[in-house]
Amino acid sequence: MEECIFCKIITGEIPSTTVYEDETVKAFLDISQTTPGHTLIVPKKHVADIFEYDQTLAAEVFGRIPKIARAIKNSDDSIKGMNIVNNNGAIAYQSVFHSHFHLIPRYSKKDDFKMVFTDNSANYKQEKLNQIAAQIKKQL
Ligand code: AMP
Ligand code: ZN
Repeated sequence: MEECIFCKIITGEIPSTTVYEDETVKAFLDISQTTPGHTLIVPKKHVADIFEYDQTLAAEVFGRIPKIARAIKNSDDSIKGMNIVNNNGAIAYQSVFHSHFHLIPRYSKKDDFKMVFTDNSANYKQEKLNQIAAQIKKQL
């Protein structure tokens, strides 16, 4: 945690461009600005990823997202929508291991954010879906 860049941003040791802060979260502009207004919402408590949240922390952090998302959207008439992205694990493109949510305003189909959802539905019959769901349910 001592070397966590987002913990240092939270304490002010590393500067950031803050858009919102309270006792639970800090929201600041992502340095990469994938699209203008790209913002990170970060819990002040150091948790590495979504797998470390309990229900209370999740409710506190997630509960603050709509207000900040609306503020970003209302800040610029050319924002048409928003992707909210949460990467968990290096395989899932996480590069800073202090959990955070990306709020990425969308301006057009040709702006600088992309996501690919491959449609594999042809390879999944109902039986296979049931098997996958049963494996997950066993863990809940
Ligand atoms: P992820 O790849 O989902 O872990 O996202 C980490 C994000 O943190 C990237 O989009 C980086 O651009 C951003 N980032 C890294 N260092 C800083 C910093 N000092 N200030 C603001 N954003 C940062
Ligand atoms: Zn941290």
